[in-house]
Amino acid sequence: MYDYLIIGAGICGTLIARDLSRYEAKTVVVDKESDVGNHATLANSAIVHSGHDPLEGTLKAKFAVEGNRLYHTLAKELDIPLRKTGGFLLANRQDDAKGLETLYRRAVANGVDSPSLLDASTAKEREPMLHDDIVAALDLPSTMVTYPWEVAIAAMQNAMKNGAALRLNYEVASIKRTEEGFVVTSADGDSLRTKVVINAAGTFADTIASMVEREVPYRITPSRGEYYVLDKLVDGFVERVLYPLPNNNGKGVLVVPQVHGNILLGPTNTHQTDKENVANHAEDLDKIKRDAARMAKDIPFDMTIRTFAGIRASSTYEDFYIEPSKEVPGFYHVAGIDSPGLTAAPAIAEHVVGKLLKVRESYPKKSSFDPYRRKKKAFHTLSDDEQRRLIEADPAHAYIVCKCERVTAAEVKAAVQGPLGSATVKGVKKRARAGSGLCQGGYCESEVLKVIAEVTGKKPHEIDYYRKNTPILKEETKVKR
Ligand SMILES: Cc1cc2nc3c(=O)[nH]c(=O)nc-3n(C[C@H](O)[C@H](O)[C@H](O)COP(=O)(O)OP(=O)(O)OC[C@H]3O[C@@H](n4cnc5c(N)ncnc54)[C@H](O)[C@@H]3O)c2cc1C
Repeated sequence: MYDYLIIGAGICGTLIARDLSRYEAKTVVVDKESDVGNHATLANSAIVHSGHDPLEGTLKAKFAVEGNRLYHTLAKELDIPLRKTGGFLLANRQDDAKGLETLYRRAVANGVDSPSLLDASTAKEREPMLHDDIVAALDLPSTMVTYPWEVAIAAMQNAMKNGAALRLNYEVASIKRTEEGFVVTSADGDSLRTKVVINAAGTFADTIASMVEREVPYRITPSRGEYYVLDKLVDGFVERVLYPLPNNNGKGVLVVPQVHGNILLGPTNTHQTDKENVANHAEDLDKIKRDAARMAKDIPFDMTIRTFAGIRASSTYEDFYIEPSKEVPGFYHVAGIDSPGLTAAPAIAEHVVGKLLKVRESYPKKSSFDPYRRKKKAFHTLSDDEQRRLIEADPAHAYIVCKCERVTAAEVKAAVQGPLGSATVKGVKKRARAGSGLCQGGYCESEVLKVIAEVTGKKPHEIDYYRKNTPILKEETKVKR
């Protein structure tokens, strides 16, 4: 019997699990995917927003500002990348520059750190590639970017180190109430018993809630955001995240430097009924080109290495819906977590564990709780001596599998083996960056398959790309190595 069962191993579920693991309570996270952070937490802009644009008094405003500050602690404890880019919210000649003043006042009211209004020449001095038509900027220095799925992986690794359990490939198909709590059953027929259920199922939160509630207080209205990814050779094109003035359709298309030097351009905001379909659309991609070009000049779109899309779990409730069920004691909603959910997640986790579940009233603190998780430095960043020592210990360090990102076979092995390793091609990409570079896996995917096969004892055609039953190869060929 678990004390807490969390449905969804995205950024919210994994950070809640980590905060629960500070207490002597038995916690399990379940996810239908074969890895943590495979949905919205995988495909987003990676911005730790300052908290400038949600309406004052909303949970989005409160948790974004708090979450932004908590990321500094999280980065130290979990060894996750955080690039302190800062952000400029821009007014174009055709815009109403008064909109910037409204946003400035909102940022101050929300408690954002040190926002200020800049004239065009000061802004252009700091960001020379700004479009000539920019007439003013709101400077948001607390804006940062992170590596979203690594935050989820790190949080879950740390939660597991402190006693939490994880069940992947566990698609919740039914939830039954019992005298002690709930029985949560998977599509494969496995059952877990728990006193409390926390519903952090992203775009499926309403589907999960409808398993126990007659009237779910919100409906998820999925909204797709599409992107271009530019190669990391463009690093330095802009230093800051560039935002246009937000409109009724959200934050708009952004220019976003990433932690590894790439630049993201996007997202769009298009409603769709499907909760998972992440196909790209020509009209969305055209819109990105048009909108981004209003903020910066000469954007090197010829350096595009990929396009992708993510799905926001927007809801009919407008704000985040983080509440106990009104119908079912012991069932809690962490729902409608669209933007700025990545930013807000550390504060959401603190709120859920401290205020909603009031865990400290029922369970003592774990004296052995260790907040730290350390990540091995990438091999290519080490000194010659350090590299030589590693190669002597394991020659797999001398074999570069991914030439774009300079990832070794030993690093791919480590990504598979864990802790919280993944034996999928995408799982390796998320952990070791093999396939994240210019060739996007064109050269290295077959080598990654080979290493995963060696570690797991499987045949290459039995290895999945990202979830169950997604092999890249159909069958063995007669080609021998
Ligand atoms: C295009 C886009 C851009 C964004 N940009 C930003 C940004 O720059 N900054 C920011 O702060 N926020 C941003 N966000 C929002 C942020 O990404 C999300 O708020 C956050 O990732 C949500 O995390 P989550 O854990 O709630 O959901 P998810 O990461 O979606 O996790 C939900 C999990 O539930 C699991 N699940 C669903 N159904 C079941 C079931 N039946 N059984 C078991 N498991 C199940 C899923 O597999 C999934 O892993 C963006 C979102 C999108 C889509």
